[in-house]
Amino acid sequence: MIHARRRVGKGEPDILSREILRIGFRCRRCGTCCRGKDHLVLVMPDEVRAVLAQAGGTWQESVEPYPEFLEGRNGTRYTLGWCLRRNSGACHLLSGDRCTVYGSRPRICRTYPFVLTDGRLEVSPCPGIGAPMTGEEALVIASALKERATAEDAEEVQVARVLSACEMPAGCRCVVDTEGIRVLDG
Ligand code: SF4
Repeated sequence: MIHARRRVGKGEPDILSREILRIGFRCRRCGTCCRGKDHLVLVMPDEVRAVLAQAGGTWQESVEPYPEFLEGRNGTRYTLGWCLRRNSGACHLLSGDRCTVYGSRPRICRTYPFVLTDGRLEVSPCPGIGAPMTGEEALVIASALKERATAEDAEEVQVARVLSACEMPAGCRCVVDTEGIRVLDG
């Protein structure tokens, strides 16, 4: 999975899809990308809700704060997003090698192993890379990449708005997301 939040360009689905088609990819449903101590799945609030709608449970049971905290004023420490919780190094939504929320999986999961970085297509290691695929399948991934880039751009703008408009309570740990500031503990 993608290990860090990146600024990404939007790309063009038709150009992207040709590039993806040239590379080739077919998900083997092996679950490898859902495991590993560094495999953080960053999620936005709408994605958390989609996961909860399918899997049930509470917000706290489903996500944890992104682990890099920044120093704020008055002893406050804050982080800029959420990650899916992990059990023993794997996404808690993985059962065996299967994703239990496949139809509602987050954008990062829909686009893995591809990512747009400043408009460039990058590919993470994956056993499915190089497999034959159809043009339609490539277009689906390209469209998902573009939608992800648009959502991440919007998230960045909205989080900056929240940061500039809201006062964080003193002496707390907080998560700042697109919807506001959530206090984790005092
Ligand atoms: S949500 Fe599903 S696809 Fe995404 S990391 Fe978790 S188990 Fe894997």
